[in-house]
Amino acid sequence: MKIYFGILFALLFALPFASAQKLYTRQASLPCIDKVFQITAHVTRDSLGDFGVTEQDIRNGIDTLNKYFSPICISFNLCEINFIDNFQYNSPANENEWAEMKVKYVRENRINMFFVSDLSWMPYDCGLGDFEGLLTPAERPAIMVFKGCLLSGAKALPHHVGHFFGLNDTNLEEGAELVDGTNCTTNGDLICDTPADPYVVGENISNYVDVQMGCRFIYGGTDANGESYLTDVGNIMSYYPEECKCGFSYEQYQLMAENYRKADPKHW
Ligand SMILES: [Zn+2]
Repeated sequence: MKIYFGILFALLFALPFASAQKLYTRQASLPCIDKVFQITAHVTRDSLGDFGVTEQDIRNGIDTLNKYFSPICISFNLCEINFIDNFQYNSPANENEWAEMKVKYVRENRINMFFVSDLSWMPYDCGLGDFEGLLTPAERPAIMVFKGCLLSGAKALPHHVGHFFGLNDTNLEEGAELVDGTNCTTNGDLICDTPADPYVVGENISNYVDVQMGCRFIYGGTDANGESYLTDVGNIMSYYPEECKCGFSYEQYQLMAENYRKADPKHW
């Protein structure tokens, strides 16, 4: 009986980790940045006057964000919520309008997060985060997250903060990174411990992942060498569903920490 329970226990503990093998585990040491970033959240009103998310929703989202950044000792603190009355900004019409919002509202020395309804010109990825915004404070970089994505699990926050810290989507240059990793420094997301990801933006996610089957990767296509993909659908920087996402990889953490060290401390 004792042996039986022993085996059962071992299985119970092994199962959750089996699907997250490629993601960060605490075995390898990571740099500890020891930094708290201050956040200004900007929330737009819709045409009926509703904001759609509450302060508590934003705080819950930031709790999720903090969980994913804790391995490199980075945390985020909500220090201000700015409510925007102009409902036109609830669905910015184009890139110019987004640029205009940043000029009007971005606060210096903060990470600025805008919560909007949607973007007709970029409906995927739950919003956007200015790539390497941490390194370009003069350009008034910011992050935009769709309110619906904040309410449905909030992993869009670590994803777009990941862009802000210099991470690419894992499927950048769809299909260009080889499964064997031989071109991983020059193709795809340029990070070598994230496996090649063939997802084509806009395609039906259910052709790639079976969520009911525990987020199994089911895509049948192959790379240029004819090799089947071993894509990690759990990576925060992928386009795969919220319920499948579970973390950043070791090298993604290293790059974010490195970019923080490169950034000008007087701006952050
Ligand atoms: Zn992205």
